[in-house]
Amino acid sequence: MIDPVILVHGGAWAIPDEACTDHRRGVERAAAAGWAALAKGASALDAVEDAVAVLEDDETFDAGRGSFLNRDGKVQLDSLIMCGDSLKAGGVGCVEHLRNPVRAARLVLEKSPHCYFVAEGAERFAEEHGMSLIENEELVLPREVERWQNAAEQRYLSLPAEFAGDPEPPMNSHDTVGAVALDCHGNIAGATSTGGTLNKAPGRVGDSSLIGCGCYADNETAAASTTGWGEPMMKLVLAKWAADRVTADVGPREVAPAAIHYLKRRLNGHGGIILLDRRGRIGIAHNTPRMAWAMQSQIARESGLSCPAW
Ligand code: ASP
Repeated sequence: MIDPVILVHGGAWAIPDEACTDHRRGVERAAAAGWAALAKGASALDAVEDAVAVLEDDETFDAGRGSFLNRDGKVQLDSLIMCGDSLKAGGVGCVEHLRNPVRAARLVLEKSPHCYFVAEGAERFAEEHGMSLIENEELVLPREVERWQNAAEQRYLSLPAEFAGDPEPPMNSHDTVGAVALDCHGNIAGATSTGGTLNKAPGRVGDSSLIGCGCYADNETAAASTTGWGEPMMKLVLAKWAADRVTADVGPREVAPAAIHYLKRRLNGHGGIILLDRRGRIGIAHNTPRMAWAMQSQIARESGLSCPAW
């Protein structure tokens, strides 16, 4: 019998001291939800879906309700889920009327011959498979309207080209969420969900929901979820880059910092990654001042290490 593991993150950036309690509470709740599924014998896919749905429902994070607004003042969401056993993946991009995009992504994985749906087509697919559509306003918080107005005043436009060549690209908040899990059958899975970057151009899709960029899972290597400034991560296909480097001899603990080092060296990117393999080995790395994360496993529970200070 394999000991299950769930590892979740809630973004990597300069999380201020006063925001740490909410972030910690959020990731702990998500890890607990994933653990509850795994402890009942559920699949790694179920565990990452449940954990990410908890984070989407938590207004602290840039996923689901409470996400950053795009240039039109709307919430526009992306999510991906992937199974390391079958390599089946489901993604949705630019959805504006779904409370839990990760659940729509799971439906794509389970019920469609395709891997990825965007915008109205994704919403129509989700509705046809039993999900309710909501008004975009239900996803918008007054806090985010204020943040968006300030950003517009500062003419911060979320255009990566503006940052090219900047030795210190702006480290705005990156509260994207994600999870990786190992179940008792020895399968791994990953999921990531985001509202993307503040004031992004409508229709912009970042790394988070693209296979191999913001998320990946393969039983032969590892499961990964990333967060941070998305365009460099997309160009490097960073989640797959990291997963592919996990071998019997080189574990997630070594590979995770190597991936973040590569991101910085090659494209001056910043962010974080969580990695997990079938042996239950984990890796966590970021080049931001903080990354919100939590895990649950039998060993972590026994040693009290499941929710360390970060
Ligand atoms: N990677 C996300 C994106 O670029 C943002 C984040 O991780 O906070 O859409």
